[in-house]
Amino acid sequence: MRRILMVSHCILNPYSKAVGLLREEKVKAARKIIKALLDDLETGIIQLPCPELLYKGLDRKPASRESYDKPEFRHICRSIAEQAVEIAVKYEHRGVGIVAYLGVEGSPSCGVEWTHFKIEKPDRGRGVFTEILCETMSKAGIKISLLGLPEKEKYGSLEELLRKLKALR
Ligand code: SF4
Repeated sequence: MRRILMVSHCILNPYSKAVGLLREEKVKAARKIIKALLDDLETGIIQLPCPELLYKGLDRKPASRESYDKPEFRHICRSIAEQAVEIAVKYEHRGVGIVAYLGVEGSPSCGVEWTHFKIEKPDRGRGVFTEILCETMSKAGIKISLLGLPEKEKYGSLEELLRKLKALR
């Protein structure tokens, strides 16, 4: 079945990460998942814009979810989410479903099950962008699965994510 996944920007382009967060283990984790997706000839990939980069630029330091939970940042997230919905509707009319969003665990913006409410330690919870994307998709009646890339072992296993990706319909 032809299908499309929407993925967080830095999964394909690690140079968008906040200063100091670009590490080999993270790039390797992302590449493993992307290779598996590219090997599946029926899967398309849409790279969403990076909301933090649009808000604070490339020289931003790592920051907490609290510090991103501001009206201006929410506005940027909403505008990306609305464009994502517009795109999803166009593909659905062509019979190609947007089946999932793949975020990045631990991110204050794109975390799915893990975020950082405070910078010091990770917490269970969604990032600001993920939250807004879900709300916007749901208001538009679009159902997608939410998956998070565990760039580090503490956020989960890559094998488990690969199993979930294969099972998506
Ligand atoms: S905001 Fe999202 S896309 Fe941008 S670097 Fe963070 S996790 Fe990646």
